[in-house]
Amino acid sequence: MAMRRYPAGWLDELYAKADIVQVVSPYVQLKRNGRKYWGLCPFHHEKTPSFSVSPELNLYYCFGCKAGGNVVQFLMEAEHLPYQEAVERLADQMHMPLPEMVEDPGWEERRSRRDRLLSANREAAAWYHRYLWTDEGKKILDYLYGRGLEDGIIRRFGLGASPRDWNRLTRALTEQGFTREELISAGLSAGRDDQDARDFFRDRAMFPIIDQFGNVLAFGGRTLEKDLPPKYLNTGDTPVFNKRKGVFAANLLRKERHLDRVLLVEGYMDVVTLTQAGVRGTAATLGTSLTPEQAQLLGRFAPEVWVGYDGDEAGQHAIEKALTIFEEAGVAVRVLYFPDGLDPDEFIRQRGIEAFDALKPMNPARYRLTRLLERSDLTGDEGRIEYVKAAAEEIRRVSEPVEREVYVRDVCARSGFDRETVLAQVGAAAPGRAEAPSGQTRARSAVRSGPAAGRDSAAGRDPGRAAERMAVSLLAVGHMPKDLFRPEDLKDEGLRRIAQKLLSGQSPAAILEDASVEERDLAASVFAEQAFQQEEDALTVATDCLRRLRLNRLTEEWEAARRQASAETDPEKRRAALTRVMELNAEMTKLKQPNHMKGAE
Ligand SMILES: [Zn+2]
Repeated sequence: MAMRRYPAGWLDELYAKADIVQVVSPYVQLKRNGRKYWGLCPFHHEKTPSFSVSPELNLYYCFGCKAGGNVVQFLMEAEHLPYQEAVERLADQMHMPLPEMVEDPGWEERRSRRDRLLSANREAAAWYHRYLWTDEGKKILDYLYGRGLEDGIIRRFGLGASPRDWNRLTRALTEQGFTREELISAGLSAGRDDQDARDFFRDRAMFPIIDQFGNVLAFGGRTLEKDLPPKYLNTGDTPVFNKRKGVFAANLLRKERHLDRVLLVEGYMDVVTLTQAGVRGTAATLGTSLTPEQAQLLGRFAPEVWVGYDGDEAGQHAIEKALTIFEEAGVAVRVLYFPDGLDPDEFIRQRGIEAFDALKPMNPARYRLTRLLERSDLTGDEGRIEYVKAAAEEIRRVSEPVEREVYVRDVCARSGFDRETVLAQVGAAAPGRAEAPSGQTRARSAVRSGPAAGRDSAAGRDPGRAAERMAVSLLAVGHMPKDLFRPEDLKDEGLRRIAQKLLSGQSPAAILEDASVEERDLAASVFAEQAFQQEEDALTVATDCLRRLRLNRLTEEWEAARRQASAETDPEKRRAALTRVMELNAEMTKLKQPNHMKGAE
């Protein structure tokens, strides 16, 4: 596949001219602080600014939702523009005439495998979507119409149809230049090998699963035939898709600004119908029950998540499990209960948006107490005792006194026990459990301390990696002495690759331009790191950083030598290893000396 692109030199000029502060300003109110500008992130909900813009590097980065990129990427995400249009709009703002595009046949081969699979998925989504509007796709389109969907929402979610035939998609994508092996690996085709590859999805309504960055990761396909189970077929895990980590409609969540809650429902169709009805911020898990990773992901989009699963027994059971997962993840959660056993899709179609807006979410404790009551038999003493014992345990976990009081009164009224007895039971319930902070208290405090509390501390956990990240961020701002720095000193492969690109003269903006998805995430977060406040400190910080990299490497060598010395049985070799240990010891001591660096560990 030959690709046409703008010439690299022209793009560099565009990046050099475009001032990111100017481009971002219409979207975010920015305030200068040190070498960066800060504001409220346009891509996720927050009350304290974690969105940073670096005029020095011409990049943006959000410490809350980890959105980051260059000036073109900002326009793409803020305006939902495809790449080329974003470049053109920026060029227009900078009064730069557009150059001729150049053929770049090698570009496709240079891209990583992950990008190849993502682009196969994107092409497949477009293909399924086009097929939906053909005569052959009409049966599935009629099904979607039958569920009350309109053209606009079908387009917005990029819904599609897969044909009944054996291998139509596989053939179409092979003609576009994808190999059968790539298609099998992306989960689009199935088959033992190249020869008999056929389409994985056949005769189904297709729901593309798109992540918060707009990548098509996978598909869910719903069958129309009762005799063709399963009802929903999902792409299995692939190199680009892990069903335990993503959620359906993450792309739309990301685009919603200032959500005050995310609504988590069970089915893709629920998400689509609710969105069409005007309910913002809806998502669903991907054919499995909720995982801690998904709970955390959802918690990034709004201060609170409402769980709105189906009204049947299975749905109610799933809610109880989900509440615990959110509480353990420190995400504030409530339950949206759909009455009369309706699922959200049925509810919104039968009763409309006003009825939906009138639904009041329940606190986890209230929900659990309601469930407990439904399950209890209060006709005999035994049942009443069991009920109060279990309810008391629940109430004991509630930290707010007023909330407690409401529940205590309720339990008294239901059970016929007096207040003193119920309170005594609350005091006596489940010894030992009160010492540990309950999930609920943790969830609340996480909300109070705001998004800054959730900042990535991965670097903090691994001091070696922190030094490596700092070295690369110093290199990016031109404050790392290039003659002293060696990329081989970096253990982290991704960081080393970025360092090599910087050393070869690529600008940070250009690196993000060409990066694969993971590399962009890593590079954007590293470039956003601020190693020093004052220009005059930069050299000291760089020297210290180099010293620490060196020390890390020596420590590793030293440990290896020590292990070798103690394992060695041959006296000659053992002595040699011990000598090496001592040499390394001396070198490390020298490096740790104060004249080398103030504040040595
Ligand atoms: Zn953000």
